[in-house]
Amino acid sequence: MIDWPQVRAQFPILQQQVNGKPLIYFDSAATSQKPLAVIEAMDHYYRWDNANVHRGLHELSSRATDAFEAARAKIARFVGAGTADEIIYTRGTTEAINLVAGIWGAHFLKPGDVVLITEMEHHSNIVPWQLAAQRSGATLKFVPVLDDGTLDLVAADELLTAEVKLFAFNHISNSLGTINPVVDLCRKARSIGAVTLVDGAQAVGHVPVNVQDIGCDFYAFSGHKMCGPTGIGALYCRTQWLEKMPPWQGGGEMILHVSMERSTYKSGPARFEPGTPPIAGAIGMGAAVDYLESIGIENIAAYDDELTQYAMGRLQELEGIRILGPLTGKRGSLAAFTLAAAHPHDLVTLTNEQGLALRGGHHCTQPLMRRFKAPGTARASFYFYNTRAEIDAMMDILNDAIRFFS
Ligand code: PMP
Repeated sequence: MIDWPQVRAQFPILQQQVNGKPLIYFDSAATSQKPLAVIEAMDHYYRWDNANVHRGLHELSSRATDAFEAARAKIARFVGAGTADEIIYTRGTTEAINLVAGIWGAHFLKPGDVVLITEMEHHSNIVPWQLAAQRSGATLKFVPVLDDGTLDLVAADELLTAEVKLFAFNHISNSLGTINPVVDLCRKARSIGAVTLVDGAQAVGHVPVNVQDIGCDFYAFSGHKMCGPTGIGALYCRTQWLEKMPPWQGGGEMILHVSMERSTYKSGPARFEPGTPPIAGAIGMGAAVDYLESIGIENIAAYDDELTQYAMGRLQELEGIRILGPLTGKRGSLAAFTLAAAHPHDLVTLTNEQGLALRGGHHCTQPLMRRFKAPGTARASFYFYNTRAEIDAMMDILNDAIRFFS
């Protein structure tokens, strides 16, 4: 049995008041809070082990290198990668997708090719592909979203033609909460020879993820959404692509030999990690994996799901509410909604006065908001440090807001 109040107590930030009220942090889909274990791991690194990695022969450098590479191995294991080398450190999901769109796109896309994405993508899984399409002459196509917030799988089948070279989609939508059938989507893409990239920003740390079971070529995720620090994330890159993709950015660390005329490059993730990496960030992300594993990702997923189902039930009691995405069944631990009584920005500004942190806006999914004719939404997103009591408190605050605006 997990002692959840004890787990919550590990997050010092949650024990504060905001605007004279106990903080209710319902914005974990934007960034999660950090447990003491992560804060202390980074503090320890800076107090005792701080040195640059890989190039020093001295004690601190080898300690820093060991911790940096140990974190890579933990992250690889956490997402089921075949080897630690298949994990490339990036600044986050956005940079991971840009890396693939930049290098893979430049090398493997040509005029007449199609890149297929979906209507429910975050801007970070749209814009890099627009740029890649513009540079290569490829065409960008979108799988539509049905009214219930799920992907139109019939349309997806029709769109997966021989011209499709890459299919990119999210694992869990940050606006709809939809959990996509990633295994099936990858299988379908594979059957026509297309490469797959999964945006796992909302999945890793929330549900068990195994990239080999999913069968994707690339899987992008961010440390800061899974209890780790900002400025660090990862790209799972299937071994076959590690060797086939040329470097992205040039600099130290990624080379074997440099002459005045040309250079040769390292193999493995080092080829894509020029310069001094975010060492403390990687160590913090590794500590986040240790922490999540100490609770158990299955336990976290079950807790998140129970809380989300409770929130979905309670939110639907509200007058004039419209919740985007599936109303029944499993969904990601978030609910984006509009209320007839108030514009999302006004609502979120008002709830902030009561210490309730919701997010208001388009959540970097403007095409999706247009699809659902929503000016934006308020979004409540949950994690395992939240409680039912907080959801009840949110309901009181939202009911007061409806009265205030009506
Ligand atoms: N994809 C999804 C589904 C997201 O929710 C986010 C973050 N909101 C991103 C990509 C981008 O992640 P990051 O800002 O950490 O790069």
